[in-house]
Amino acid sequence: MKKVFLTLLAFAIVSTTFFAQEVEQKSAPQKGHYNKSKFQQLKQELPTPNKQHTASGAPGHEYTQQQVDYKINLILDDENQKLFGEETITYHNNSKDVLDYLWVQLDQNMRAADSKRPDISSRGFSSRYTASNFTKSFIEKPFDGGFKIEYVNDANGNAIDHVINQTMMRINLPKPLASGEKFVFNIKWWYNINNYIEQRGRSGFEKFSDGNMAYAIAQFFPRLAVYNNVEGWQNMQFWGRSEFALEFGNYNVSITTPKDFTLNGTGVLQNPKDVLTKKQYKRYLDAQKSYDNPVFIVTPEEALKAKNGRTNETKTWNLYAENVRDFAFATSKKYMWDAMAVDLNGKTVMAYSLYPEEGKTLWEEHSTRVVANTLKVYSEYTFDYPYPQATSVNVQMGMEYPMICFNFGRTGPDGKYSERTKRGMISVVTHEVGHNFFPMIVNSDERQWTWMDEGLDSFVQILALYKYNSELFPMTRYPKNIVGYMKGDQSRLSPIMSQGDNVFNFGSNAYGKPAAGLFILRQTIMGPELFDHAFRTYARRWKFKHPTPADLFRTMEDASAMDLDWFWRGWFYTTGNNDIGIKEVKKYHITDKPTEQAKNLAKRYGFTLDQLPPSLFLVSEDSEEFTDDLKNKKAEDYSILNEYIKNNFSSEEKSILKAPNYFYELKFEKPGDLVMPIIVEFEYEDGTKERKQYPAQIWRLNDKEVTKVFPSNKAIRKITVDPDEQTADVDLSNNSWPKIKETKFEKFKKNQIKG
Ligand SMILES: [Zn+2]
Repeated sequence: MKKVFLTLLAFAIVSTTFFAQEVEQKSAPQKGHYNKSKFQQLKQELPTPNKQHTASGAPGHEYTQQQVDYKINLILDDENQKLFGEETITYHNNSKDVLDYLWVQLDQNMRAADSKRPDISSRGFSSRYTASNFTKSFIEKPFDGGFKIEYVNDANGNAIDHVINQTMMRINLPKPLASGEKFVFNIKWWYNINNYIEQRGRSGFEKFSDGNMAYAIAQFFPRLAVYNNVEGWQNMQFWGRSEFALEFGNYNVSITTPKDFTLNGTGVLQNPKDVLTKKQYKRYLDAQKSYDNPVFIVTPEEALKAKNGRTNETKTWNLYAENVRDFAFATSKKYMWDAMAVDLNGKTVMAYSLYPEEGKTLWEEHSTRVVANTLKVYSEYTFDYPYPQATSVNVQMGMEYPMICFNFGRTGPDGKYSERTKRGMISVVTHEVGHNFFPMIVNSDERQWTWMDEGLDSFVQILALYKYNSELFPMTRYPKNIVGYMKGDQSRLSPIMSQGDNVFNFGSNAYGKPAAGLFILRQTIMGPELFDHAFRTYARRWKFKHPTPADLFRTMEDASAMDLDWFWRGWFYTTGNNDIGIKEVKKYHITDKPTEQAKNLAKRYGFTLDQLPPSLFLVSEDSEEFTDDLKNKKAEDYSILNEYIKNNFSSEEKSILKAPNYFYELKFEKPGDLVMPIIVEFEYEDGTKERKQYPAQIWRLNDKEVTKVFPSNKAIRKITVDPDEQTADVDLSNNSWPKIKETKFEKFKKNQIKG
């Protein structure tokens, strides 16, 4: 009942505005326009749903994807840093289409002497060169990288016609491959491994000061491109930045290394007894029961002995992985190997770390524990980690592959490390292990949409880091961290929905901003309960499949009953930013004496106030009609109000009715392009505080300015918009009322300090 009477009070103000608009419309006809509403649905931006990608965001009943199985034999030449490989590829055409050719990715060709990659970079001379940089830039012969393909043969050993276009190879099939058929073929190749520190890269070798090498090997074999009904063949060239699009399959890989090397990779070791010593094998088994602390399989002493020794003997590691989209491995004689069992809802998964002495003190404390924490937290927000193991390897970069990832974090020669190094190392391990979920299992197209794996992974990373150490990784930094980027030079910003090779500020565009957006959705717009369910639904729907952005956008709405098109439109499709402020606060008081404004309004409609039912009126404190007697009068003092209450409410209702003493009219402004909820904190004269959140839909009819009435029993001392900085508001100077002014003393003090 209280609502009825408040509506009555608001009548005078609201109808004035309405009337003013009507008058305006009588002027000259204006030009029309397209739908400019920020709440317009994304019908034109999203692809039309079909039987593979449905309107709900789930895979449809005709969803298919290809499968590609690999049997690979590798020999690592540690003397010359070369990798030799032979593979048998079995391509299963599960699509409904007949294929005339297959596309194979040759990522190493990005480093080939004839690569066009250097030609597309546009840069002048540097102002300074180190001797080594100068040599590399102007004197040295270019690195002889790229795959040297020895043959591409069919199962019977006959050569298959093929064409190489930079990082892509077209296999011209001897006869078209029908739906449901498979094609088996063999490739033999070798390549010079790059030094990933000097030449940069996602894989390669590192040479230590003791002369030993560590290899972090990936993109090392010709592997199939994705064929689907969204891209056809995803055969966009690899330029080094936008990552990979890959099919799932089973991998049986044998790698021959020097005998004193330790190795870990995608897949479970099939012959531990052949490659580990008796003692190591026993520890390998013991580790599978060690749930509390990591234990060494290859000890620091063994790594030290190997590092100082030399051998011409080799051994072969056999790894097998089921349903993975890629394969990588790391190996060195300098590696020690620790392990811990992780219980994931009754299933044991092994967490492993490999590291040289250069990272030992930091890594033995954190790496494997961080792997375990990451698997647990990500499983909670998505699905239980389905693979049998996850390995973190110490290298000088961060990069992810199924079941194995490369992470940085080295200590000083004394084993000491800074807080910053520790924080960086824990972050990168969490991030790269987290990539197992996005994109290794929720297998999005990285070549096209970097944000789909980096953004989602960086978001869950926030929750996982907080769980690992809430003091070291407080959540209050988000989404504040993205403000600097979002208010930056618009000519250097791209919408998140851009292909990764074509954007400035890659890190903020594809990692920070989408993660901050999801964080805002969870914490502020949807709430954790609705968000977590919807996000988990997306992850489960697309686990071991190929999702697109539309599948994520649609699922988040489908599973939550929240229309978020306005959020996707603003945050993902534009470079707009958020700025909401409080523009004006007017204090009103009620009176039963008709105000001039009300009289004029009635007159415009052809009435006198006597012809209308007895009414109450609102007088603004800054109006002349706000007299001293009105100032001291209490809301209960009005006879019209009391009469109305007496006639319309039961005695029980009356006992709980209390008319507000203060009526605030708040005007919020929105100089920013984005739409966001308005979060308001009211601080009363008595020091108490109250919060109110107005949904983003408040901006539906006016994108620049909105008015809210706020009746209150207590006088308001201060109003703050977005007090916890939850909405990436880029300008806080308009976020409080009254405007904070510097006192003379504060100004004086500031100048003193400066002097
Ligand atoms: Zn990443």
